[in-house]
Amino acid sequence: METNNFDLLTGRTHTHLESFGDHLIQAEVKRQFLAMSKKAKEDDEIEIKLVSAFRSFEKQQIIWNDKVAGHRKILDDNGAELDPSSLTEKELLYAILRFSALPGASRHHWGTDLDVFDASIKSKKDVQLTVSESLEDFSHLNHWLDQNMNDFGFYRPYAQDLGGVSQEPWHISYYPHSKALFEQYSFEVFKENIQRSQISLKGLVLNQLDEIFQKFVINIEER
Ligand SMILES: [Zn+2]
Repeated sequence: METNNFDLLTGRTHTHLESFGDHLIQAEVKRQFLAMSKKAKEDDEIEIKLVSAFRSFEKQQIIWNDKVAGHRKILDDNGAELDPSSLTEKELLYAILRFSALPGASRHHWGTDLDVFDASIKSKKDVQLTVSESLEDFSHLNHWLDQNMNDFGFYRPYAQDLGGVSQEPWHISYYPHSKALFEQYSFEVFKENIQRSQISLKGLVLNQLDEIFQKFVINIEER
């Protein structure tokens, strides 16, 4: 694999992206997102805005290492906070993977995937990105996306809980571009990414590499 593609797939470069407010995003994704937002506003007064688009390897590493260190909350499947000191390293690893991607293995590295909310309901600083918030506060947005996002090339890779990454109704992906990147994201890319990194729990991750790849990286909704 070319170095450049490896870097792109694993969040080590953003030269393929353009800026969009505080965010970085692929040019075509931005165009389609803006067209979709315009339609949602016209149809139903929904204001689709971004919580996040591109996230770099370094940023994902900070999130990851903070969670391992107990500096950021780790939740169980019922939304209750876990005490990292009460877990084995392996339990900790799999608890974090439910809600956070490994650095270099997030779809947010590509500039094709977006976390969205409805700014007519609440402001960005109050958005929690939880399933209950999504189903209750943002039900209108979700319904509109169900009906319309496909027309603009978007779908939800984490529409349901498939036993790996938990359900994320707010996460949408521009499949004309993300599909190709997903196909290039091989086990070899994943392995090299972890080997090159200095992430917390690196040894354990290398030990569990195949299982993590199957369960959390390629285990997404088909489109
Ligand atoms: Zn997301």
